[in-house]
Amino acid sequence: MRDNTSEQLSDAAGAVHPHDNHALMAVSPGPLGERHWRRVLEARGCRYTAQRGAVYGYLRSVESHPSAEEVYQAVRARVPRISLATVYKALEALEQAGLANKLTYGDGSARYDCREDAHYHLRDVETGAVEDLPTQFDSQLLAKLDPDLARRLEARGIEVTGYRLEVLGRRKPS
Ligand SMILES: [Zn+2]
Repeated sequence: MRDNTSEQLSDAAGAVHPHDNHALMAVSPGPLGERHWRRVLEARGCRYTAQRGAVYGYLRSVESHPSAEEVYQAVRARVPRISLATVYKALEALEQAGLANKLTYGDGSARYDCREDAHYHLRDVETGAVEDLPTQFDSQLLAKLDPDLARRLEARGIEVTGYRLEVLGRRKPS
């Protein structure tokens, strides 16, 4: 007899980032220990510390785009002496190494994302929760929006390096 529960779980986890070739790592952070995260961080020129490894390992294991405070609460369970300041510093180091993105908002809050392929976000305007939008990234979207935009910006001395798109929404009362 097949075990439906574990099958559903792995399906659900596997469906989150269908085109993310790191999906396997995100789905099963369990067997990936210190040595693995050390290799990943050092390959990107980021000095390894146990705290940085724990912070990055946690970021890789969730899809929730957590705040620094949420990272702290989660990592603290595994690294009891870690402080919120250390978590902030670890996130900053990961950001500098290009291993994490900081998503900042007008109200001063920030959330962290370690998915490296270009993608869009959906943000709940009431709770502030952020999730990945399940749709294909379009590198030509700016040109579709305004075919002349990049040229006009270039005339002002600006080189377009990318864009971000965030869909805003809220849960309808059921
Ligand atoms: Zn994301």
